Amino acid sequence: MSRDLKADERRTFFEYYREGSACKSCENKDVVVKIWEKYGSDAGEINGDISPEGIIGAVVVCGKCGHSQTVARESILKAS
Ligand SMILES: [Zn+2]
Repeated sequence: MSRDLKADERRTFFEYYREGSACKSCENKDVVVKIWEKYGSDAGEINGDISPEGIIGAVVVCGKCGHSQTVARESILKAS
């Protein structure tokens, strides 16, 4: 299952992965970070574990230009 992170969770997400603060195409800061939880983790719940232990994937979608950017699997693994 996937869900969109809340604003304060996006800050946590950025601290882990250095992504999700702005659109890489137009630099707009109104972005949505969608995460996919790891099986058995609580990342699917609000304020759940979005560390590399908790998620298997993420996408950053721009609210302005619609650009979507996959957060590389390697960046997620590297953050662990
Ligand atoms: Zn954009």
